[in-house]
Amino acid sequence: MSSIYINEDLEAIRLGVREYVEKEIVPRADQWEADRAVPPEILDQMGKLGFFGLRIPEEYGGLGLGTIASVVFGEELGRSTYGGFSITVLVHTDLASPYVTNFGTKAQKEKYLPKFATGELITAIGVTEPDAGSDVAAMRTTARRDGDGFRINGTKMFITNGGIADVVFVAAKTNPDVKGSRGISIFAVEQGTDGFKTSRSLEKMGWHSSNTAELVLDDVWVPEDALIGEENRGFYYIMENFQNERLAIIGQGIGEAQRAIELTVDYVKERKAFGASLWSKQAIRQRLAMRQAELDAARELAYGAAWLTDQGEDTVRQVSEVKAFAAETTNRTIYDCVQFHGGMGFIAETAVERLYRDMRIHSIGGGATEVMLEEVAKRM
Ligand SMILES: Cc1cc2nc3c(=O)[nH]c(=O)nc-3n(C[C@H](O)[C@H](O)[C@H](O)COP(=O)(O)OP(=O)(O)OC[C@H]3O[C@@H](n4cnc5c(N)ncnc54)[C@H](O)[C@@H]3O)c2cc1C
Repeated sequence: MSSIYINEDLEAIRLGVREYVEKEIVPRADQWEADRAVPPEILDQMGKLGFFGLRIPEEYGGLGLGTIASVVFGEELGRSTYGGFSITVLVHTDLASPYVTNFGTKAQKEKYLPKFATGELITAIGVTEPDAGSDVAAMRTTARRDGDGFRINGTKMFITNGGIADVVFVAAKTNPDVKGSRGISIFAVEQGTDGFKTSRSLEKMGWHSSNTAELVLDDVWVPEDALIGEENRGFYYIMENFQNERLAIIGQGIGEAQRAIELTVDYVKERKAFGASLWSKQAIRQRLAMRQAELDAARELAYGAAWLTDQGEDTVRQVSEVKAFAAETTNRTIYDCVQFHGGMGFIAETAVERLYRDMRIHSIGGGATEVMLEEVAKRM
């Protein structure tokens, strides 16, 4: 076993995802990067093969696994070296659909979860706005009661899968008169609802095959049963889901950095300079060894935080620590991997060049390093 936290079932899942990624994703994903999209057929196929149901309860067609499964799943998607593909999947499985799994009513679970598990419906999560990112409570989107439902107005920014999702979980202020965190609710807004549209898809430094959209909600009316969980509890739901979301993304980054080290070790063992391989230079192999040690530490911290989460503990401090540590570690690792590829590391045909662009968001998105360190400091 690779770690004390990983049992045989998780190891089997790891191998299943790895085989699938190597066979179906890696040979095709260059084209998806160029197309700026993961083909719907792939999401369909992954859903049918059961990859989207790892965290969905068995009674709704999933496997009902715990948080460590999300870390392992993230790692194996990350090893593909195509961050845009990985995040397309993880937003659906670990960032968005858990809103129904964790806080939805029985009717919402029956309506949505089986279709989320098979990929018949793909999801997104809309929290960030043009003027509210790290400071979630500063959001301006409103949802006011109107008849048997709510009328939503606002703009959501940087929404992964925003342009392709069938259901977007939109955070909005249902009580603008109280402290930000006390008056937010979450709504399931279905694609095709009047007034709900993608105003633009955003070009990015990396994650090219992932769709990142700006969404406009212009007098969008949703029925009462689109409200997820309790009214005005949305901020707490977001904070709770952040722990799972961060662990899945941490897994992705660790998988990406691990693959980058492997590719770099192979490269420097082959590449000759000054009469011998680059690997024969202590400065290079020791730096790679140190990066491997740091990455192993990040992985164990992530498993540990996931395990504690599954025991029902409050793990905000642990998850924040590992989010900051892993994001900085993986960035540093891939920086070195590009360095030791020399000029080839700067050429678009190498995986490390793409990983370098894709990695940059890990210390910004889903909780910037500084914001994570504040969460840790508050608890010190
Ligand atoms: C490609 C991409 C995909 C995304 N996908 C989604 C999605 O699906 N859904 C969604 O809701 N959001 C999504 N986001 C938004 C993402 O989570 C935010 O960008 C992130 O939370 C940071 O918010 P911001 O960009 O507004 O930065 P700001 O909040 O403006 O912060 C800018 C920088 O200031 C620093 N900073 C912020 N606060 C502090 C502090 N208290 N102390 C010290 N330094 C601080 C940090 O370095 C931070 O990077 C995505 C973003 C990108 C780029």
